Amino acid sequence: MITWSRNTPFEATDTLQETWTYHEDGHQKSIPVEIFLGKPIDIVSLKKENIEDFASKIDSISQSRKNLYQDTSLEHVMVCPVCSSSTDTATKIIKIYGAQYCRCNYCTHHFVLDRLSQKAIEEFYTSNQTYQSTYADPETLQKRLKDISLPKARWTIERFEHLVGQKPKKILDVGTGSGHFVHACRTLGIEADGLEISQSGVKFCKDIFGIKLIQKDFITEWESLGDYDIITFWGVIEHVPGPVIMLKTAAQLLDKKPSMIVTEVPRWACFGTEVQKLFPTSIIRHLDPLGHIQMFTDSSLATTFLKGGFEPNAAWYFGMDYYELLVQTAHHLGDKNILETMKSYINPIQNALDHSRSVDTIVLAGTSTQAE
Ligand SMILES: [Zn+2]
Repeated sequence: MITWSRNTPFEATDTLQETWTYHEDGHQKSIPVEIFLGKPIDIVSLKKENIEDFASKIDSISQSRKNLYQDTSLEHVMVCPVCSSSTDTATKIIKIYGAQYCRCNYCTHHFVLDRLSQKAIEEFYTSNQTYQSTYADPETLQKRLKDISLPKARWTIERFEHLVGQKPKKILDVGTGSGHFVHACRTLGIEADGLEISQSGVKFCKDIFGIKLIQKDFITEWESLGDYDIITFWGVIEHVPGPVIMLKTAAQLLDKKPSMIVTEVPRWACFGTEVQKLFPTSIIRHLDPLGHIQMFTDSSLATTFLKGGFEPNAAWYFGMDYYELLVQTAHHLGDKNILETMKSYINPIQNALDHSRSVDTIVLAGTSTQAE
């Protein structure tokens, strides 16, 4: 079995120092990891248009997922996407819209056991406008930049300066969507490019930010990409069948120079997951088996880093767990006012969850184990 343990202070301050230790078959490796807890955001204004049509969103999302997962051409996952051990011994946890989430008992990774073909996934991301529209709405653009993209860009640049001891020269954001993060990096004076396969994301980014994204496949076309010292994956490696291959490819592109990767992924063990387990018929994010075919634990993400050629050096925990509870409550009680009434409580309560790390999101940054 692969297990990770951590040494941590009793008091959960906003930032703290930990040691993470990897254990497998008598081998172990200890790594210092800097921890960041919490990220306040005005989620109600960001999601305003989504609250009003939450019920219709549930209808369309549940129907599309059920249809896709009824398909007889599903591929059975034979080995764990992180540790490659057989899925015969995996534990089935919960079905969402017909998709079976299971747990690998060797490395604790969670994933959808019978998944859509890679072709079906690619077709979805290449053509689906609804998916991009959540991120591409011009009205919420400024708020999204200020509350989400700029803090992420700042965190990334600061981690690099701290770990590598210099400013980054150029950042590549893989699966950049509408390019918010690329724009944020450039706003902060750091050169950045974005890789995106969806037409709507490429068009939005050109129209709104005047930035031309690179429309290439990271895995197969990485050799034609430029010279970068940071590669970021914001909400990307949970969508792909092979998260380790994504990181190995990043390691090849970064080669042996001082460099860093950043990944943001959904976490399995959190308040939001427990809420969604209670309301499995009204899920539109997080345990959405169309996008999130991989659901990480801190262990399985750290293992993904090691197997991909990186060691984890900094982790940032935050989420929308309490918001999820409010949305589900509002929906099931048929009371849209709940969100408006409770909105001033969202940040304080989420902040408490952030500090206990019962959150649906982790950002992990790491440096190459090959670097000279
Ligand atoms: Zn595994």
